[in-house]
Amino acid sequence: MSDQLGYRACPLCETYANSDAGYFARAFGDPKLLAATGEAITDALGFCARHGAKLLSQESLSIGDGVVEMLHDTIPRLMLLLNEKYFLESQVQQILFGAEQACPACTYANRAVGRQSARLARQYSIAENQASAGHSHGLCVGHFQLLAADLAPESRLAGLTQYADDLGRVVRRMKELLRSARKTDAWPVEDAAATLNHALGLIAGRPMVEIRTSGAGLANGLDLCPTLVEAIACSDTCPLCIETERARQRWLLNVEKAAGFDEDAWLFFPTCPEHVSAIARLGAPTLTAAVVERALSVSLRYLRQQIQALVRAAELREEEAKIKAEGPEFWAEYKRRRPRRKIPGPKTPSHRLEKCPGCERIDVATDKATDTLLHLLNKKGHREVFSQGYGLCLKHFARVYLTASKGVVRAMLAEEQRGRLTEFTRNISNLNRRLPISEAALLRNVLVKKTLHQFCGFA
Ligand SMILES: [Zn+2]
Ligand SMILES: [Zn+2]
Ligand SMILES: [Zn+2]
Ligand SMILES: [Zn+2]
Repeated sequence: MSDQLGYRACPLCETYANSDAGYFARAFGDPKLLAATGEAITDALGFCARHGAKLLSQESLSIGDGVVEMLHDTIPRLMLLLNEKYFLESQVQQILFGAEQACPACTYANRAVGRQSARLARQYSIAENQASAGHSHGLCVGHFQLLAADLAPESRLAGLTQYADDLGRVVRRMKELLRSARKTDAWPVEDAAATLNHALGLIAGRPMVEIRTSGAGLANGLDLCPTLVEAIACSDTCPLCIETERARQRWLLNVEKAAGFDEDAWLFFPTCPEHVSAIARLGAPTLTAAVVERALSVSLRYLRQQIQALVRAAELREEEAKIKAEGPEFWAEYKRRRPRRKIPGPKTPSHRLEKCPGCERIDVATDKATDTLLHLLNKKGHREVFSQGYGLCLKHFARVYLTASKGVVRAMLAEEQRGRLTEFTRNISNLNRRLPISEAALLRNVLVKKTLHQFCGFA
């Protein structure tokens, strides 16, 4: 990686970021596409929290109108889906199981990135461009991996090796920086900012992945509801969104604590773009540098494992070709004595990237909160409190509904959710009454906000 390379934005990150505005304008701004948008939203049970927050920040009137319009088709479909009678239908199960990961806007962006990555890979796989396959071209680690999987086999090994060598240099520079920062107990601002920025871009992507910003509802919920018992009574926020955010904040604190103890770092230091960005936003350069160095080292280890597997596979193929050339009897003997070995396929890395400790901890906490919530709902008194509270956003509803066992709790969850959707229908008809323009605009904005929270969760 020549020095100037990484200072360019990752082209695939840019594609990803730029696709959102186009997607929202099409999905909600084009009346011909609204039906398809409604269908996609039903199948995914909303958008991810990040895209929900992004949609909420769009001030375009036509998008707001599109969101309200979309509800017309979507609510009747959801009402069917949320009928407990159909709980075991395969289509319903499929939607519920996929809901947590599904987001039509993410799918759209990923497709755009996939197309561009395939285009770049084709370009680098042409003989005269092969030498440049491994140069980062500003690609962040995650997007380089995507590109590498698309590279022609003969370019892949060279590409991975080149990228790993470059990444190794960045990691060494980060280690040196950290050593000098720790020795003097101060961050050598001047010369270090560019190095850190470059390394951060490699792991977190650029422009940096947007992170959740706690909305006012969530902040209030966190303040006022120390546990789930209080959170189920909360009137304006999903209790599981509150608990997930609480887990995220607890994890952030643990990262700061672990930074003081080198040996604990691996337990808490994040490796995914979202959570590395979350640390960077704390604005503490030495902590960011420590986290970035750790995340890049994990990526580097993974790259080297991939390289080793490719080298082993190539050696094996060479050995086999040699023996085959010696004659069929040699080949038959070789096959008989050969231990069973599996040649790793080009697109199946032999080692899975370890899960980001941030993601892991937050997931575990959300699972625990789901269990606790179901436990609470077994008691009639808690069910009554829950019915009077906000209830659950659709994404968390899917998680809890799937986990609940058949009986009074599951039936109540479906009924509650259907009741909430009926309220949306009522809100839409209120909106269609003859109202002064300013009042109508206010009502519409409130409805859009409520819709996005219900469909995407609180972020
Ligand atoms: Zn990228
Ligand atoms: Zn999304
Ligand atoms: Zn939620
Ligand atoms: Zn993570």
